[in-house]
Amino acid sequence: MPKAFIDPDKCTRCENCQAAKACPVKAIFRIDSEEAAVVETRLCRGCGDCIAKCPACAVVLKEI
Ligand code: SF4
Ligand code: SF4
Repeated sequence: MPKAFIDPDKCTRCENCQAAKACPVKAIFRIDSEEAAVVETRLCRGCGDCIAKCPACAVVLKEI
């Protein structure tokens, strides 16, 4: 199953992470406002709903 990953070099650390909001299983987290958003891989179902919502195109799906 593919899993979402967030490129920390692309993530602009939005105040309201639209990718996190779009995730139906709440698999995307902001641990700290200074840090890039992260995906909890165990929760991610690979649906891809988060990808188009990220204005920085920081989210990609990868087969693992
Ligand atoms: S929407 Fe994209 S750029 Fe913004 S915090 Fe979320 S992952 Fe990072
Ligand atoms: S691919 Fe789907 S389940 Fe995984 S983080 Fe994105 S929205 Fe959530």
